[in-house]
Amino acid sequence: MKPAEPDPSLEAELNDLRGRSLGRSLRTLDSAQGRSVTVNGRELLNFSSNDYLGLANHPAVKQAAVDAIGRFGAGSGASRLISGSLRPHGELEEALAALKHAPAALAFTTGYAAAAGTLQVLLGREDVVLLDRKVHACCIDAARASPATLRVFAHNDLDDLERKLRWAARYTSSPGRAGRRRPRILIVTESVFSMDGDLAPLRNLIELKERHGAWLMVDEAHATGLYGVQRGGLCEEFGIAHQVEIQMGTLGKALGSAGGFIAGSRSLVDLLINRARSFIFSTAPPPAQAAAALAAIRILGSAEGESLAHGLWGVVDLAKSELTRCGWPPGPVRSPIIPLIVGDEAAAVNLSGRLFEEGLLLPAVRYPSVARGEARLRLTLSAVHRGEDLERLAKAMGSVLYF
Ligand SMILES: *Cc1c(COP(=O)(O)O)cnc(C)c1O
Repeated sequence: MKPAEPDPSLEAELNDLRGRSLGRSLRTLDSAQGRSVTVNGRELLNFSSNDYLGLANHPAVKQAAVDAIGRFGAGSGASRLISGSLRPHGELEEALAALKHAPAALAFTTGYAAAAGTLQVLLGREDVVLLDRKVHACCIDAARASPATLRVFAHNDLDDLERKLRWAARYTSSPGRAGRRRPRILIVTESVFSMDGDLAPLRNLIELKERHGAWLMVDEAHATGLYGVQRGGLCEEFGIAHQVEIQMGTLGKALGSAGGFIAGSRSLVDLLINRARSFIFSTAPPPAQAAAALAAIRILGSAEGESLAHGLWGVVDLAKSELTRCGWPPGPVRSPIIPLIVGDEAAAVNLSGRLFEEGLLLPAVRYPSVARGEARLRLTLSAVHRGEDLERLAKAMGSVLYF
């Protein structure tokens, strides 16, 4: 392959993707995240960001990042275990542990890295990992990379999970499965599912995992900051945070920064520090990233955080009634992610293109982010949206319905 010339085998693969409406390309924004964004000089109403509370461009969050740069510099200079553990990392981890009602927490450069490192540490060849069919790619990839036996249970299906838990108990106790320690059975799920916006039956999952002696890992990427009195997430809202062995989250969604984290027991966090390769062999996150997330957590716990969350739920309720009115009735769940299911990949791309022309940014989500034939527009709402934005959304969605 000569870098200056198109390579036929790479081009063939790209053309194959494009032919199936699965081609992707980058769209550059010339503005911060917000209710509207600028793309190619055009202003578009933004219904595609995970910045649910508008904290990515919040003055206090930005100022915290600026202050951290002033005091600690732009880069961390080394991995956390060498000399890259700066004051903002430790402060962030303390705040995360408190937010998650857990004894300890550990920050990673991304949520993807948090899942990779954690499942690498927890899963050996003697173990079984049970994944909800709709968990995020980072958990799928991490589970696949482990030597543990992997099974997928039907989405939010407690009967199917219980069958697989019974099977796992037999399987791990069968002769020849013995390893260096007692085998683990680990259930992995999300609290608010990233592409469907529906919720896991967390209380039932706790009951099941306790009864079968399994561990539970809950990815709260899309719930952290939104649910519960402290806005710690859905585990907090359901009062089960202290019963979840591994709480995972990201800093890049409602917290407006970037990065991932794990919260759990002190021994879990200490073991991750010692063994998680994605933590050990990577430069510590920039201090500004940690400081911004910490500022966001402080806002969550304030009266302003309460009013932002309140504002978001108002926007969600209004959007749902507007969508129902224009012929796109959403499901009953209250979350800021509303999937507008199209099915066919080409139709979803087409629809997204028409909305772009109407001044709305609402990208098509396709395989492999969702299953084949389940393409959709993934509508996400934020506390910064206004009533008039939702009226425009409804008008545009109504006009594309019969195309
Ligand atoms: C975004 C996301 C991640 C990955 O987090 P990053 O910090 O973006 O790498 C993990 N899980 C879920 C459910 C997500 O939506």
